[in-house]
Amino acid sequence: MKPTAEIIAIGSELLSGYIVDTNSSHISRILSLGGIQLSFISTVGDDEEVIAATVTSALSRSDIVLTTGGLGPTIDDKTRVSVALATNRQLVFEHDLLEQIESRFNNWGRKMSENNMRQAYIPDGAIPIENPVGTAPCFIVEHDQSRVICLPGVPREMKYLLEHEVMPYLARVFPSTDVIKTRVLHTVGVGESVVDSKIGHLESMRNPVVGLAAHQGIVDIRITATGSSEKEADKLIYSVEEEARAHLREVIFGADGQSLASVVLGKLEKSGHTVSVVESGTSGELASKFVLADNAKGIFQAGILLSNFSSSDDCDVDRDMEEMIQSYSTNLESNFVIASSVYDKENSIVIGVALFNSGDRSMTTKTRGFGGHIKYAGEWAANVGLDLLRNYDI
Ligand code: ATP
Ligand code: MG
Repeated sequence: MKPTAEIIAIGSELLSGYIVDTNSSHISRILSLGGIQLSFISTVGDDEEVIAATVTSALSRSDIVLTTGGLGPTIDDKTRVSVALATNRQLVFEHDLLEQIESRFNNWGRKMSENNMRQAYIPDGAIPIENPVGTAPCFIVEHDQSRVICLPGVPREMKYLLEHEVMPYLARVFPSTDVIKTRVLHTVGVGESVVDSKIGHLESMRNPVVGLAAHQGIVDIRITATGSSEKEADKLIYSVEEEARAHLREVIFGADGQSLASVVLGKLEKSGHTVSVVESGTSGELASKFVLADNAKGIFQAGILLSNFSSSDDCDVDRDMEEMIQSYSTNLESNFVIASSVYDKENSIVIGVALFNSGDRSMTTKTRGFGGHIKYAGEWAANVGLDLLRNYDI
């Protein structure tokens, strides 16, 4: 039987929205790499009773309960006392833990304060875990058929202890767990519904699981496979990827976080060409994507950001693009210039892109309406512009 796991993120600041719960997403990623599937994530404030009740119900339905936060020395750090309550144990003083905390303060040349004594109390019978990267000691309470593993809230400490202590512990307790692997294919130029119509049959599979996520002009296909080994999971992913590629072909531009701009720059690097951009009505999304991907190689040469460029009242997008290119391509002196433009018209948003080849002075333009929020239009236009150059025969 595969173990089930859940996370309880503890801290009132998580509920008030001041801190985003990145710990839970990190823990779930690491668990899934170790073959453990998550079934629940809860977020609770610094309330002793609520934490205890949440831990109690989590222990009743999951094999592994991981908590993060609330292990510090202050009054509002409730995890120790709540877990003791949920597992019907007393908090007991662990002399070894106190020595560890004291020696950590000595190493930092600081004096331990009185309230750090609290951190040396853990539920009776708990397995203490030393924390070499902070002061809050962690612990595991094995309770009935389940266990609750308490990790600190500070992300750096949590990550260290998860990797070095918790995952080895779980591998010992659940030795034959599966491996879960994920591959993400990135598509551009078609909407989510088009991708869905081509590979919908893959989305109903159970293993691998295939899901779509739409961004601005880009749709990701996430393939997640479970196997008894990494090799088996890879094999499952590979067959689905092949099938997806057969249906979507050149619509797929990359995988696993590869950016569209880096693919375009890779193509230009091979052919020894350069590119610059001129943007209007955007927040410079096209230039910033190129800058990030170019990594100072100089294939992307320059970007010009204009305040709303409009040559006429009637807003002829094609003509504007042409004028933008004509006015600025000489200054830019690159082999290719991409223009991207966002128009916030009375009842609609229009985006326009143009690709100019300064060799033969040819220009390709594309204009379309945009149905989303104006703040995303610049990124959408950038991706359409990048895709024009990606598909251009050099
Ligand atoms: P200590 O109080 O000793 O720092 P702790 O285990 O009590 O450790 P918390 O007080 O709950 O941890 O959190 C410390 C800090 O860690 C928070 O102020 C916040 O910046 C960060 N943090 C806590 N929980 C999370 C979380 N779920 N995701 C991301 N960051 C978090
Ligand atoms: Mg704290």
